[in-house]
Amino acid sequence: MADKNALRIVLFGPPGAGKGTQAVLISKSLSISHISTGDIMRDEIKSGSKLGLAISDVLNRGELVSDFQVLELVNSRLSRADCANGFLLDGFPRTLVQAEAFVKMPPQNLKTAVVELSVPEAELLERIRQRGISGLRPDDDQRVAAKRLNVYWEQTAPVASYFKERGEFYEIDGIGTVEQVHQRVMEVLLAL
Ligand code: AMP
Repeated sequence: MADKNALRIVLFGPPGAGKGTQAVLISKSLSISHISTGDIMRDEIKSGSKLGLAISDVLNRGELVSDFQVLELVNSRLSRADCANGFLLDGFPRTLVQAEAFVKMPPQNLKTAVVELSVPEAELLERIRQRGISGLRPDDDQRVAAKRLNVYWEQTAPVASYFKERGEFYEIDGIGTVEQVHQRVMEVLLAL
């Protein structure tokens, strides 16, 4: 049985908001699994699987993988034993279709908290530019970064309203040091 305060956390926000960094810290603080759909996709591509081959171009263009393909991967990941007592999703749900599927997915006995890292657009563009320079992420060149941000505003931002209406949405100021932002997130999560 999951303990009654167990959470399924969605870390939400545009590319460059710091989701990956915060996800690592939160999952450590709460001892829950960190599930990054971007990492799952990149692992799939590295493995050379059929799905990996099919989605490689999509990632390189900065577009979204189809809901059907994403939901297959997420369903299978969330059915693993480590998710029974809570987990943190980073990069999912990214469309309304994914959000609607997510709220129906097991395990259902967990409280949902969607935490948005809120960062102004100018700051995001600068952060993405810096990441591109460091060469850590091949899809983070300027053109693809701009595309990813557009895709976010068009397809992912509406997901916020969906969870606001459900009373499961928490907005956090994403400006500050990594530690400051982490503290803000933890204050919200520990009060739930
Ligand atoms: P991320 O590391 O979360 O920015 O994800 C990298 C890329 O993986 C995205 O630009 C998408 O192409 C793909 N991806 C990750 N998560 C999803 C998702 N939930 N829905 C669709 N595509 C996704």
